Amino acid sequence: MNSEKEKILEQSVQYIKSVGPKRAVSFNKIGIYSIRDLLFYFPSRHLDRTTVLTAAKAYGYVKNGYEGEVTIIAKVFEKTKRRFGKKEVLKVQFRDTTGFFTCVWFQGIKYFYSAFNEGDIIAVSSKPEIDKYGNLQFIHPDYDRISEEESDNFLHTGKIIPFYKIPKELRQGAIGDLSLRRIISYAVEKYVDSLSETLPPKILEENNIISVNTAVKNYHFPESKEKFEAAKHRFKFEELFYLELLVALRKYNYQTKLPGNKMSIKTNLVYDFLKVLPFELTKSQLQVLTEIKNDMLSEKPMNRLLQGDVGSGKTIVSLIAALIAIDNGFQAVLMAPTEILADQHAKTVSSLLRKLEAENSKHEIKVSLLIGGQKKSTREKELTDIELQQADIIVGTHALFEEKVKFNNLGFVVIDEQHRFGVRQRGLIQSKGTTPDVLVMSATPIPRTLSMTVYGDLDVSVIEELPKNRIPIKTVLRGESKLPKIYKFIIDKHKEGYQCFIVYPLVEESEKLELKAATEYFNQLKDSYLKNLRVGLIHGRMKWQEKEEVMFLFLKKEYDVLISTTVIEVGIDIPDANIILINDAHRFGLSQLHQLRGRVGRSNKQAFCILVTHDGLATKQKVEELELDYLSTTQLEKYKASIRLQTMVNNTNGFKVAEVDMKLRGPGDIFGIKQSGFPDLKFVNLSEDQELIIKTKNISFGLISSDPNLKLPKNKIIKENLLAHYSDNLKYAEIA
Ligand code: ADP
Ligand code: MG
Repeated sequence: MNSEKEKILEQSVQYIKSVGPKRAVSFNKIGIYSIRDLLFYFPSRHLDRTTVLTAAKAYGYVKNGYEGEVTIIAKVFEKTKRRFGKKEVLKVQFRDTTGFFTCVWFQGIKYFYSAFNEGDIIAVSSKPEIDKYGNLQFIHPDYDRISEEESDNFLHTGKIIPFYKIPKELRQGAIGDLSLRRIISYAVEKYVDSLSETLPPKILEENNIISVNTAVKNYHFPESKEKFEAAKHRFKFEELFYLELLVALRKYNYQTKLPGNKMSIKTNLVYDFLKVLPFELTKSQLQVLTEIKNDMLSEKPMNRLLQGDVGSGKTIVSLIAALIAIDNGFQAVLMAPTEILADQHAKTVSSLLRKLEAENSKHEIKVSLLIGGQKKSTREKELTDIELQQADIIVGTHALFEEKVKFNNLGFVVIDEQHRFGVRQRGLIQSKGTTPDVLVMSATPIPRTLSMTVYGDLDVSVIEELPKNRIPIKTVLRGESKLPKIYKFIIDKHKEGYQCFIVYPLVEESEKLELKAATEYFNQLKDSYLKNLRVGLIHGRMKWQEKEEVMFLFLKKEYDVLISTTVIEVGIDIPDANIILINDAHRFGLSQLHQLRGRVGRSNKQAFCILVTHDGLATKQKVEELELDYLSTTQLEKYKASIRLQTMVNNTNGFKVAEVDMKLRGPGDIFGIKQSGFPDLKFVNLSEDQELIIKTKNISFGLISSDPNLKLPKNKIIKENLLAHYSDNLKYAEIA
């Protein structure tokens, strides 16, 4: 950094005019210590003159049926508290030059009463209505305080006013809207020029990016919308540029620091295995296998993400790849996120391999299972087998991370349902081998923007099609009152050999209560509607051995119906379970619903997914008619549950479902971003900024490939900035 000039910014925030030691303490409480921190405390929104109405205009709009939000700037005229029995109501009357309107509060009366004083100038933002006397009113509106001077400036010069989040720590320290704006404007005026640039001049110029000083200034106090947009663009660009740089570094380091294992096809192991498979691989499976094989045969270590919708057949692909490694004398690991899934993988793998061995006794491959909760003697035996390479394929869970687990010659690692594991854990298991080839698999389809950012260090293969015999699952949405009919449907279908999952959400916080709820629900159903069927129960409080036992009985058709909490969410494969009934479906997230639905439809019979919710929600206006992109945030909140349910009804494709999910929830930790070792994104919206992602990716990857150690003088700024602000993330740049 240009350190002399910057030093001043590292001083305590207390030195900013009108802050002082006392207010500084309040700032500290929300993580603002230095002047620099405050400069980067950006407004959450701006008030722009083009979006403000007069009272008279707003009134006219509502009369004409307008239902959106409006903002009016007005003065407090008078306030009155009224009591109706126990209930109190606060009415504050406002006026602007065109007329009056009222704001009403039913809660927090004391607080709001003291918040408004005659003559205060307030920007009121909310959905307006007309009260029973025909007057304009707002119920519990959002509001922001502005000063006389600001309001004059605003109205006459069109200046844009920033609004900041004022957490209670600031309010308690007597820092409100007006004072914070004032403090920040002092800080910007005096210190903004001390910020040193974090992007090289050439990059700024070529991409039409404004300097950091101007951007900070205009992010706070823009003179026009365009100037604000340019500032925002700069920070988005910078954020993505450094993110992609970290991605590129991680990838570069992984591929070049250590040589990988150059494998080859030694025997006809894989070929013979394909012959014992009970089905033919799909074109897509063959395609991704070729990509994986090429990585394994090259000396670069593989670091690949295999994506494919639920049921697309990833397990078999990873097993075949594991066989290539075994053919080369290596051990292979298959990691699953839950014990029950690991257990199931081990069974599937073993039974296929036994078939192979029956065909050709030369192909003797041993499978080990290592999971928590195993008997001590079993565990010791497995550990020895692994260490002495008596085991070729090791299936397991987190238990594989433990220090005790030592491999003789680990050359291939598969991580199933990768979003459940973090980058640190990936690094841990890799370090147990000598640069093993790594294949991570995801059943939650990862939107393209994510596979270009937080997963950008991985090469990507996608299984695009489902096995041929699959019939798309029929998904329907029903109200609770239809449950008796649904149970009858389940009974009818049972006569055709259908089995059924019945899922319900965990409503109770405590595990004990959860168990009670599960058991009660189970008892009720098996004694009433489903009394002629054999009903099983599985829930999270069971040990994995118990879960395994239940799943096994279900698989053997000892049960017709399996009542379950979300423990069946990932991976489980029961071919004849072709109905899944999901209770209180509105409580589940989209990707969870999609995963659950993926438990059925794994055979050539028509499968059904029945989503059950309140009667009201089930019959509500069809959300497919609402264009997601045009919904405001408040509307979005209101419709979220409907959107999720309708999305499920209208889409069987997991990528589509994942896109909607990302829009609704933000990428957050859905895709394991929090554990990715990459910085949080504050400015970028991964579902909207695709173009910029592609652009910065190209720039950053180009830069690292031409100057991987950032030694060139023109990249000095970048290196210094990485070390100054991204040191934590850099730690992970060397782990895949
Ligand atoms: P996922 O991709 O969700 O992990 P799985 O690997 O569990 O899917 O495969 C789902 C089911 O499809 C399994 O029963 C598997 O044996 C079967 N399967 C996989 N590939 C094919 C194929 N090419 N044709 C028919 N069935 C297949
Ligand atoms: Mg799977």
